[in-house]
Amino acid sequence: MTHDVISGGQPIHAPDNLKQLLEDILQQAMTVNDGKVADYIPALAEVKADYCALTVATLDGNVTSVGDSNKPFSIQSISKIYGLMLAMERLGDPLWERVQMEPSGQPFNSIVQLEWEKGIPRNPMINAGAILVSDVLVSHYSASKSALLSMVRGLCGSEAVCVDSRVHESEREHGARNAALAYLMKSFNNIESDVEEVLDHYFWQCALTMNTEQLASSLAFLANRGQCPRSGKQITSHRDAQRINALMSTSGMYDQSGQFAFTVGLPAKSGVGGGIIAIVPDYGVISAWSPPLNSFGNSARGMFMIRELANRLGLSVY
Ligand code: GLN
Repeated sequence: MTHDVISGGQPIHAPDNLKQLLEDILQQAMTVNDGKVADYIPALAEVKADYCALTVATLDGNVTSVGDSNKPFSIQSISKIYGLMLAMERLGDPLWERVQMEPSGQPFNSIVQLEWEKGIPRNPMINAGAILVSDVLVSHYSASKSALLSMVRGLCGSEAVCVDSRVHESEREHGARNAALAYLMKSFNNIESDVEEVLDHYFWQCALTMNTEQLASSLAFLANRGQCPRSGKQITSHRDAQRINALMSTSGMYDQSGQFAFTVGLPAKSGVGGGIIAIVPDYGVISAWSPPLNSFGNSARGMFMIRELANRLGLSVY
């Protein structure tokens, strides 16, 4: 038996044996061995390469997981979504005068385009864009970190979300390239606050630790027109949820976003901790975690698992 969830007018068949399907996909994913664990900081380099988790959280409240779904990991760039939500709410449309909404076609930490484009980052999903967003948060909140943390905890319905202080420190110690991006933007007058404070916020949010179940539940509102399906609370407007999904579709997987749209067809965001979340509008959220990364900085097994699941269930939004 299957229960149907309507997505874009098309029923999606959510099989009762979803758990078995996830198990099969995870087993297959374990044969993918072509990635490399992020090693730019020791705290990430030490994470075991064979961790693997896959979670599906549907809007009816069911959460189905396999593998290491209870193990918290460094969410890294997935945090860019949380920062963006707060900045969109605080600043409204003027935000889009300071950051664009175009794919960059460049690696996530690239610097060349930022010089050509006078310190206006291509989008909020690359590092320069997320540092700009961090500036908005530092400039508009008296305590930007606690504003973000309490929002994320509220979205998960759990106080268990923490920040790994060791990752936070290491990000700062090895953050020369991010500092270069921030100072370059400052030179174009596109950073308002103190650069070191802005960088500290950015490094801190990269160090948030969550598991795949917390990630999937926290972002369910993006699949539900901005409304949290658990609490019924309107988290963002429907329009802002659509806009965040649109940015994820075009930029969330960096310079592999086109390939991801082509082969999977879902708004998604990755982080160098090996996590990926994918939004299935009107259905739910898929989150995957496995530390080894491909050359674009996206989890190799995570990509495999989300692609398999999306293809087998026919989840593409296109
Ligand atoms: N902390 C990483 C960095 O700033 C985040 C990048 C990512 O997850 N893609 O380089």
